[in-house]
Amino acid sequence: MDNNLISYEQLYINGNWTSSHGNRKIEVINPATEEVIGFVPEATIEDVEYAIQAAKIALPSWSAISASLRSTYIKRLVEEMKSQQDLMALTITKELGMPLHFSHDIQVVGPIEGLETYIDIPQQLEEEKNNGNSIIYNEAIGVCSLICPWNYPLHQLIGKIAPALAAGCTMVVKPACETPLNAFLLAKMIDKIGLPAGVFNLITGPGPTVGEAMCKHPDVDLVSFTGSTRAGIQIAKAAANTVKRVCQELGGKSPLIITEEADIEAAVTFGVQDVMLNSGQTCTALTRMLVPVSCYEEVLLHAKNAVKEITLGDPLDTQNFMGPMSSQKQKEIVLGYIKKGIEEGATLLTGGTDNPLAKGFYVSPTIFSDVNNSMVIAQEEIFGPVLCIIPYETLDEAINIANDSPFGLSAAVWGESQQQALTIAKKIKAGQVYVNGADFNYQAPFGGVKQSGNGREWGIAGAMEYIELKSIQL
Ligand code: NAD
Repeated sequence: MDNNLISYEQLYINGNWTSSHGNRKIEVINPATEEVIGFVPEATIEDVEYAIQAAKIALPSWSAISASLRSTYIKRLVEEMKSQQDLMALTITKELGMPLHFSHDIQVVGPIEGLETYIDIPQQLEEEKNNGNSIIYNEAIGVCSLICPWNYPLHQLIGKIAPALAAGCTMVVKPACETPLNAFLLAKMIDKIGLPAGVFNLITGPGPTVGEAMCKHPDVDLVSFTGSTRAGIQIAKAAANTVKRVCQELGGKSPLIITEEADIEAAVTFGVQDVMLNSGQTCTALTRMLVPVSCYEEVLLHAKNAVKEITLGDPLDTQNFMGPMSSQKQKEIVLGYIKKGIEEGATLLTGGTDNPLAKGFYVSPTIFSDVNNSMVIAQEEIFGPVLCIIPYETLDEAINIANDSPFGLSAAVWGESQQQALTIAKKIKAGQVYVNGADFNYQAPFGGVKQSGNGREWGIAGAMEYIELKSIQL
């Protein structure tokens, strides 16, 4: 066996590294080199059953331990993750392709910061509330199936594991097949902090088999899923027969409205960088840039200049802004949409379908101008480095275009002032809106409306997804 391979031979179930009932393996490919960099086991339905039973058995004692002990475990995990930041960042860069400096800051430091915000949440959840002749309690919902995508793999894992731990739930976790290695690293850390057996169980495998079994199982009380709207619908159907709670964090086609009075250069540069980050594989990417007709030419000039600064190449080189797409499949999907945009009559301002590098699943940063919001490239989630620039005449029209989408995950407004942008932000149908380049906040509720989902993650709102409210009348 190649010593450079990062391979895991066993699943993590019931507090032990456990051999799968099957003997199939999942190949992990570095999208920058196209080489196999490791293997993980592919779980079977029997493994899913074993993991769910382990979580079920662990539930009564875990949900009954004190809030302060749950906090202590979360604190220990924070410390453990802090000590392994570089290894986690390198692992994610190798399996996903995001440049290492971004992997470190966004894919690792960010989730650690998010996990840290959960240290105090168990105590908050323990507080009883009185209302009239009732006492209201927060009870752990139970056994959770947590299913994650590949684009911000550790961030998604922590966004589910942290509130589940805080609420006193037990869990079976499934990372995406493309990026499982960081989840195995995390499982090693969870093992090291001595979390009671069965609270956290790690399973791998394809969505339609292993994932579906996790959603259908009658002993599972909640499914939290982050991924495509397509899979989210299948998951909700699979979970429906046993009436479990399903929290869905799905796709997006988010707008950025730039007003006439805004600092156009700053706003356009921000918008271009936002879309190209992680090669456009960000669920909240601001892929529709809505700009006033009056400054259209200026916008196009700044967009071209901004894209010239997007360096593309080896994700281990800290000079690079963009690495490859996560997989050959993702690259082909994105190239298909670029061809579609050309066919639909949008103007290719920059980028296109040519291979920018001989090796690796690279796609050039691509910008379409003269896009009409009814075009396929403006309505469907491309999940690649493709920005659509859409002109508007009035702010009311801009708001209508922003809301004319099956999605409602995120949005942004860049205005002359915070006040102007805030007025517009309130009219956009999205779970979160960013004003004048504001930062992500790990304590604010994160989630979508419409076909972007129904769940909320992070902060106390994220924890409440894992809670059943119980009232006792006296
Ligand atoms: P995907 O839906 O193909 O897969 C996501 C996960 O679901 C994987 O673990 C997969 O194995 C599993 N899965 C797939 N089909 C399943 C099924 N029928 N039953 C159970 N599990 C199943 O998505 P992806 O390609 O990994 O991720 C990209 C998508 O995720 C994009 O649409 C993106 O917008 C979305 N996303 C949303 C958010 C958010 O917070 N809203 C965050 C990140 C990514």
